[in-house]
Parts: sequence; structure tokens; C-alpha cells
Amino acid sequence: MKAHDASVNPLQANAHDPYVDHPPARPAAHPPYGPIQPAAPSMSNPFDMQSACPSQMRVQRAGEGIAPAPSGVSSGPFLVQMLLSSRTDGEMTAMRIFAPPGVVTHWHSHPRGQLLFVIDGVGYAQRDGGQRVEIRAGDCVWFAPGERHWHGAAPSSPFSYISIQPVLGDSAVDWMEPLNSGDRLP
Ligand code: MN
Repeated sequence: MKAHDASVNPLQANAHDPYVDHPPARPAAHPPYGPIQPAAPSMSNPFDMQSACPSQMRVQRAGEGIAPAPSGVSSGPFLVQMLLSSRTDGEMTAMRIFAPPGVVTHWHSHPRGQLLFVIDGVGYAQRDGGQRVEIRAGDCVWFAPGERHWHGAAPSSPFSYISIQPVLGDSAVDWMEPLNSGDRLP
């Protein structure tokens, strides 16, 4: 194929693409939702996982590094896969979250905001004083710096998303109290 052949649709599958002929094994969209064990002590704060930000190129294979999230930040256990970690002001932390049906975060805020991109399933997000909004795979949410909010899985669906949040003052999140009945739980 010529380098700049306008007649070729770059989005069209190439029959000779080895990735198409021999696609790598992929894990299920969600890990099995059996009982989730308590988080390891070293993971008391998922944003503290320095090992998630190595000093040179590294490939983290699909499904690697998925671990229970710390307790005390949500209505039930969920799983987290750290993608980027830092405690340096202005740098990014990133993670993939796997929330079982009905599991939602406590109220919280992010000092420099949060980008949330839904990978799979159906969930909800709500800012303090705003309406609860249903979000689905492909939806992208921005929470402003310091904006008090929560997010989590709909009662009938697991919910998976990638979130990116910069660090300020040694943290990328400030946890608050659990939701209560007045918060219109899912
Ligand atoms: Mn958040």
C-alpha cells in the first residue's frame, strides 16, 4: 500500500494484519466477581503505589495488577488496576476500576479534578447539588477541582472505567462520608 493512498480507509481491517489473523487472548471485560479479599497493607492508599510508575518503558499486560481496593472508600469491595502513580504535584495518577453491580464510592473530591472514561457497563455519577446522571461505555466525565461528587455501578450492571487525576499536596483524592438515603442511591 502506498504511504498516502487516499483510496484506502485506514480504519478498514487489513486481512494480512497479524493482529487480526492472530488476535491475542483477551481477558473478560470484567474479572469474576467472587468474594473480594481485603486489600494488602501495602495498598492502604492506591495512589501510593510507586511501582505503578516505572523509570523506563514497561508493558503491563491485560489483566495484570488487578487488586482489591482499600476499604472505607465505597459501599462495597471493588477492584483496582493501577496504571500510573505519583505523589508529585501536577503529575498524573491513573487507574482502571472494576466495580461490581451496586457498588458506589463515598462522597469525595479531587484537588486538581478527575477525568473518568467509562470502559464497560452502566453506572452513575453525581456532583453535590446536581442530578444523578447515568453513564455508559464510551461516556467521559470531568469533575472539577474540589467538586464534591460520587460515582459507581448501577444496581444491575458491573461498571468499569479508567480515571485520571493529577496530584496536589501529596494526594489525588480527598475522601468524605458515605452516601445516605437522601443522596438518591442507585
Ligand atoms: Mn471521583
